[in-house]
Amino acid sequence: MIIINNIKLGIDEDTGKIKEKIKKKLKIKYDDFSYEIYRKSIDARKKNNILFVYQVLVDIELSEKRLLKLKDNDVKIYEEKVFEINPIKKFKKRPIVVGLGPAGLFCGYMLAKNGYKPIIIERGKDVDSRADDIEYFWETGKLNYESNVQFGEGGAGTFSDGKLTSRSNNFRIREVLKTFVENGAPEEILILQKPHIGTDLLREVVKNIREKIVSYGGKVHFETKLEDIKIENKKVVGIKTSKGDFETEDLFLAIGHSARDTFKMILDRGIEIGNKAFAVGFRIEHPQILIDKSQYGESFASPKLSAAEYQLTYKSKEGRGVYTFCMCPGGRVISASSFKDELCVNGMSYHARDLENANSAIIANVSERDYGEELLAGMYFQEGMEKKAYELGGGKYFAPVQLIRDYIDEVPSREIGKVKPSYKPGYKLTDLNSIYPKNINEAIKEAIINLDKKLKGFSLEDGVLTGVETRSSSPIRILRDKENYQSINTKGLYPIGEGAGYAGGIMSSAVDGITAVEKIVGSED
Ligand code: FAD
Repeated sequence: MIIINNIKLGIDEDTGKIKEKIKKKLKIKYDDFSYEIYRKSIDARKKNNILFVYQVLVDIELSEKRLLKLKDNDVKIYEEKVFEINPIKKFKKRPIVVGLGPAGLFCGYMLAKNGYKPIIIERGKDVDSRADDIEYFWETGKLNYESNVQFGEGGAGTFSDGKLTSRSNNFRIREVLKTFVENGAPEEILILQKPHIGTDLLREVVKNIREKIVSYGGKVHFETKLEDIKIENKKVVGIKTSKGDFETEDLFLAIGHSARDTFKMILDRGIEIGNKAFAVGFRIEHPQILIDKSQYGESFASPKLSAAEYQLTYKSKEGRGVYTFCMCPGGRVISASSFKDELCVNGMSYHARDLENANSAIIANVSERDYGEELLAGMYFQEGMEKKAYELGGGKYFAPVQLIRDYIDEVPSREIGKVKPSYKPGYKLTDLNSIYPKNINEAIKEAIINLDKKLKGFSLEDGVLTGVETRSSSPIRILRDKENYQSINTKGLYPIGEGAGYAGGIMSSAVDGITAVEKIVGSED
């Protein structure tokens, strides 16, 4: 099998031409071979010549000598690395996984698939009941503190854009994508460079994976919150939950970045943690058509192109990193709140990505120099900003909103322009400058103005900012050994995923979950 990179076609060219391009690359004249597309991406750097770029697997025998003769770095022999777990560990008691986000879901799935019958506890509800609670919240402003965008089956990213991007394309990433496909995701996610599922499809996939875990002998307890970890002689011996106690010597902690009560309990139990830098800011909304025009030029309306995305970074004069994050083309800004009288926002889209507005986080890095060195100081900083946002919105989880121009000029907005805020249950026009300290606002403003040079229209005067985006990543790290993923001072405790501070996003959290299983069941002790 041969892998060929950089097969380029214009967006209106027929994919039938790929075969001709393969023949040219391999300098062959015959047609007697088959191929499959391994990866597809868009090269939109030249607006007047947007290209699809393919990586293809060709089923053909070519000798090393022949390949060398081609003198083409785009052509290589393909060796597939298959994902495999070698389960040799024997657990004395059933392993427990806390949290059913991507880290816990894939950790539980790999344990179950390898015969370990894990017990999984999740504080929130199953995904269907959770979806009802969230819809009700977005309609009425009445928040269920245990069943919301952060808590419940599927974890934080379930009500999201379902972007499945990752910096690498290694075999574990592929294993996660394959598992998604086996459980109902569209096959295209295996080849697209920037795959996404959308919240509608993701919910079904998550449910199907959970049903597989159960069919392999795993047990899932919803509405069951971890309240305490029992530790004796620096070893986990069991847990206390809202529904009773469980004995275990192996506890996978996949609690995400929003379980503030659980973070406090972990600190109280003497489990080693550290503060972690994260980022805060707002959601920014533009018309999707503005982003399409800016990214695709004259081809913006081509049916061959999906709603355009962007990812922008900026370093302020003061040296603070500001960046866009979790951009949702054709999506909605949503309330991602999980606590009483505290408000935070995020973005979501359906598979079709066909709503009017594009949204993205625009966030500035914050670290101990902003909130101090006390353990959990970052978490309290987040909490403070969310309380201010709630008050500024006027209560009932209405979000504080401001036009970009007014935020920069530091005047409260009085009326909405062409861009209609998509946030529900409602919003209040105000001045967002009062939420963050001045230096953070300055960095964000500087970034918005300057990023317009990279993406025309980014500083659109009547673009909308909605506050606050604070849960970009975990404010803490639960310290673990690099080699065996075990807590550095508590035997049998394996902190995984985003909440533990070792992953960010659906894919890396899922990969962290399966890597933990590989490491722990792959050795006898
Ligand atoms: P989580 O997904 O947060 O899961 C943790 C789980 O643990 C939760 O279900 C929670 O209820 C449970 N839990 C917490 N404490 C306890 C306890 N004490 N007892 C029992 N259970 C507990 N990432 C992307 O890659 N692409 C996207 O498009 C994307 N969009 C997003 C949109 C939104 C609205 C949000 C909020 C996040 C988005 N993210 C996205 C980020 C992504 O969701 C997270 O990086 C990912 O979910 C982290 O996975 P995790 O398993 O570590 O934690």
